[in-house]
Amino acid sequence: MEQKNIRNFAIIAHVDHGKSTLADRFLEITKTVDKSKMEEQFLDQNPISRKRGITIKLAPVRMNYELNSIHYVLNLIDTPGHVDFSYEVSRTLAACEGVVLLVDATQNIQAQTVAHFQAAKKLNLPIIPVINKIDLPNADSEKVAQTLVDTFGTEKSEIIYISAKTGENVELVLKAIIEKIPSPTGDVQKPLRSLIFDAVYDTHRGVVALVRLFDGSLSKGEKITFLGSHAQTSVIEVGTFSPFPVAVSNLTAGDIGYVMTGVKDIRLANVGDTITMVGSTGVQPLPGYEKPKPMVFFGVYPKHPEEFGNLKEGLSKLALADASLSYSEEYSAFLGSGFRVGFLGLLHAEIVRERLKREQGIEPLLTTPQVLYQKQPDGRILEPYMNLLVYVPAEYVGAVMNVCQNRKGKLINLSYHNSYAVLEYDMPYSMFIAGISSELKSVSSGFASLDYSLSDYREANLVPLEIRVNDVPIDVLSELVYREDSIHKAFEKAKKLKETLKRQQYRQVIQGVVDGQIVAREEIPPFRKDVLQKMSGGDRTRKDKLLEAQKKGKSRMVHHSKIDLPQEALFSLVES
Ligand code: GDP
Ligand code: MG
Repeated sequence: MEQKNIRNFAIIAHVDHGKSTLADRFLEITKTVDKSKMEEQFLDQNPISRKRGITIKLAPVRMNYELNSIHYVLNLIDTPGHVDFSYEVSRTLAACEGVVLLVDATQNIQAQTVAHFQAAKKLNLPIIPVINKIDLPNADSEKVAQTLVDTFGTEKSEIIYISAKTGENVELVLKAIIEKIPSPTGDVQKPLRSLIFDAVYDTHRGVVALVRLFDGSLSKGEKITFLGSHAQTSVIEVGTFSPFPVAVSNLTAGDIGYVMTGVKDIRLANVGDTITMVGSTGVQPLPGYEKPKPMVFFGVYPKHPEEFGNLKEGLSKLALADASLSYSEEYSAFLGSGFRVGFLGLLHAEIVRERLKREQGIEPLLTTPQVLYQKQPDGRILEPYMNLLVYVPAEYVGAVMNVCQNRKGKLINLSYHNSYAVLEYDMPYSMFIAGISSELKSVSSGFASLDYSLSDYREANLVPLEIRVNDVPIDVLSELVYREDSIHKAFEKAKKLKETLKRQQYRQVIQGVVDGQIVAREEIPPFRKDVLQKMSGGDRTRKDKLLEAQKKGKSRMVHHSKIDLPQEALFSLVES
């Protein structure tokens, strides 16, 4: 295919605004998928992605379309719609020459609409504004159009009004893609330069990289190398998706397709890496490559020790296909053998938890998460910061500012667009774990929508918090906390533990220890055998002697017995 007749594009939208449904209509109109075989949200092949309405895997699809007797190839890349996957979105956009910006006529623009718009703008991509769901009775296309004009400087005349559901005006979008998005301009003669914008693991064939060729060409049998990971391999097959994989003899500059790499480890073919030929010299890597970076860690433990092997197998299977999942074994004196698992974010963790349940039949215990800190050689601890974007109806601005200020947020920008406001904050990433998403949702009656991008690492004033029962530290309750929150947290945890633990034959002393200092103390008295009951009258010395004896007996017991935490209580304390 001549480059001038190729268009590479993505649809960007806030979750549920109709991206997958619009893709379905494109597949029908271009006859890529027969209408009778059409299932809803065709590109969302991953069952979890379907269930949660979140696209996890990007399925690029090649469509043929004729306009004014010219045959075009339209390559659509579907993007994941959640903040945990913003790096993948950025690499997808880097593989395109333009985007369709889709906004729900009943929801108006939302945080991810703004965030994706900014990402596309940064790459200088042409943006086709489309308002969707005009078939709904509560659609307010006029208001949304005005918001687009005010927020993004969109020309009103460029906006296309559609129903992805009924198909109304969808063909106008295809025409706009051809007219407004430029064709790719790579050089076929130059050495291969190919961007990996997604990679999937296939049990039989190894890693299949989804690629955009910028220069050169690629065919079966050629020896390739990855500029980031330095892995080398021979290409098993190249092809395109239409929408199912079809082998082709070669891919050339401007094309989007797949490469069966034969590589068995997905960590050697990372999203954002550049593929070139072995032996090519002076090929510059494509910009924007970052290694997958876990942001939050959870302890993941089997609820029954005999499930450990099963859990290990499940994690290793998932990690084969997911380069952003990392794990190592860890041992807790209270929970036994388990794992410390790193995730891209909280949603990523939730997805992995669901897959373990569905594919491995286990429901592991996930302990309270912590963010990934960086330990410096000089002992300082650095924590990640983010740029948090909050999109909210204007009347909630005060409430949002309140929450963000209490969460160490520094306001860097506030702008109003019609009845909406965009607030940008500089804030520690850890505030997600502290629950800022749900706080913002609740103070805004559910209207706030969020997006974030990581900015940098800065020094954090953290101290270790430990909880001890009768001097035995409960390892799974230990964590690093901000110094200014530490005493409050120590009290809270000690109190919660007191409420959860049962009385024993012995006295239980719970201590909250911050940086080696005991700052909180709770006590659970033992069952008291009433040794005084049978005594009448007032032989004081005899009473005292009895009490003394009982106390000694008990303190011995405490001293010698291991503490005994009921499993249920422990689970309820550590489960996130
Ligand atoms: P995505 O998260 O952006 O991929 O959104 P989906 O395509 O999954 O759509 C979210 C929901 O909106 C689904 O229930 C769709 O059926 C519905 N939907 C999408 N487009 C339209 C439309 O034009 N009209 C109506 N009435 N519903 C739509
Ligand atoms: Mg979708």
